[in-house]
Amino acid sequence: MANSTPLVESVSSARQSPLWWADVDLTKPDRPPLLTDLAVDVAIVGGGFSGLWSAYYLKKHDPKLEIAILEAGFVGFGASGRNGGWCSSLFPASWSKLASRSSESSALTMARLMRETVDVVGRFATEHQLDIDWQKGGTVLVAHDQLQLERAREHVESEHQWGNDAMRLLSSGELQKVCHTRGLGATFDPSCAVIQPAKLVAGLARIVENMGVRIFEKTRVNELLPKQGSTATAVVGGLAVRAPVILRATESYSSLLPKAKREIVPVYSLMIATEPLSKESWQNIGLTDRTTFADYGNLVIYGQRTADDRIAFGGRGAPYHFGSSISAKHDQDLTVHRSLATTLGHWFPDVMKSRVEYRWGGPVGIPRDWSAAVRYDQQTGLGSVGGYVGDGVGTSNLAGRTFADLVVGNNSELTAMPWVNQPLHKWEVEPFRWLGVNAAITAVQAADWFESRTGRDAPWAPVLSKLTGD
Ligand SMILES: Cc1cc2nc3c(=O)[nH]c(=O)nc-3n(C[C@H](O)[C@H](O)[C@H](O)COP(=O)(O)OP(=O)(O)OC[C@H]3O[C@@H](n4cnc5c(N)ncnc54)[C@H](O)[C@@H]3O)c2cc1C
Repeated sequence: MANSTPLVESVSSARQSPLWWADVDLTKPDRPPLLTDLAVDVAIVGGGFSGLWSAYYLKKHDPKLEIAILEAGFVGFGASGRNGGWCSSLFPASWSKLASRSSESSALTMARLMRETVDVVGRFATEHQLDIDWQKGGTVLVAHDQLQLERAREHVESEHQWGNDAMRLLSSGELQKVCHTRGLGATFDPSCAVIQPAKLVAGLARIVENMGVRIFEKTRVNELLPKQGSTATAVVGGLAVRAPVILRATESYSSLLPKAKREIVPVYSLMIATEPLSKESWQNIGLTDRTTFADYGNLVIYGQRTADDRIAFGGRGAPYHFGSSISAKHDQDLTVHRSLATTLGHWFPDVMKSRVEYRWGGPVGIPRDWSAAVRYDQQTGLGSVGGYVGDGVGTSNLAGRTFADLVVGNNSELTAMPWVNQPLHKWEVEPFRWLGVNAAITAVQAADWFESRTGRDAPWAPVLSKLTGD
């Protein structure tokens, strides 16, 4: 029985911390908190990928800019230090949705930019000799049944329509050459790389510091005030950071800032990592190129083969917590972690005898229209980037480049993209938010159950796609 395998049994005794933090002690730089008022050219709230990439590209544009990053915990504390390590060209909104807001050619450009972004991150690591366990082995999405195969076909068609000619459908036999799992077929998209996210976030922080950016840790911003005169203000307890430009790069945690509470919903994504697997196990699993893997089910799952031969595997399905609560205790949900181990065992029966060594989680930020955005208002001096849902590793790089162009007034291809200065849609007030989001999570899980038993689309699937705005 899959449920009583060593893999599932070991979950309860696994270390309750991200695997990535075992390699990289993100707390070690122990940067000082802000102790006095400060005046800079640009203040950035949040020391994750978004804040760091923005600082990096701003400095590239203008090395003289004085930039301060204000981070409530430590660099990489948020999703950037604990994600699944897919650096992909995935964007949370569909290309057709972006086209409907702008034009087909804008959406085509955006799709191309996202594919190019994967290589931008890879080149950055090479250029800076940053070891981030990078390998661009593409991604395989498996179709477990006829319905999923139909989705796979439609996905390939749609990707081709949006310029991703390299995406292709794999037969069941071709799938076995990538990974040995049960499936009627799959799709393969080369535009995805694996990374060790904590290595990237820590390295990026060191690089921007070397460029002169100051990073303050243990420095929580309580409020952002628009420009009065020439500067906007970030309030940190009794202190003030004044700057003509202030960027909020706080993703899910924006929901903790009173004025941004309804801009984003934090939904937990949880992960497990196995012990390093033996050579024999890998012969039975495949993933020789460290190709990332997921499937065409409704509930999001994602996996990678790590550089040290573990499987890091994650998924959604944890409940949304009332009032958009974010807490370390939500990182742990034994039921969800065990269910991830069960699913992983179904994917790769060989793994069932191995142990889970780490389990953790963190919130992904979901905007009401499920579409990431880059915003900057020169009049107020305030900007924001984010809303990546679970696709922020690559997207945050493009967001940082775009924000930098907006600030320096560089009217580029990037600043013309349809996610720039999109109108903001707010989430419902509680308890409607709690009811709606949890109903959607349950409906997604029920859709998988229904489909696997009937082979038909769940009748409520159209309601779900309305919820995601597609
Ligand atoms: C478990 C999990 C798996 C994921 N897997 C993938 C994946 O494989 N591929 C992918 O593309 N995406 C993935 N994502 C999403 C991706 O990690 C995020 O979209 C991305 O890291 C967001 O980066 P960020 O810098 O915008 O936000 P974060 O990394 O969350 O950084 C925000 C920072 O702001 C700080 N902060 C918050 N509030 C304040 C305040 N008031 N004052 C000062 N500082 C503050 C926080 O402490 C935090 O460090 C995953 C996310 C999770 C949680």
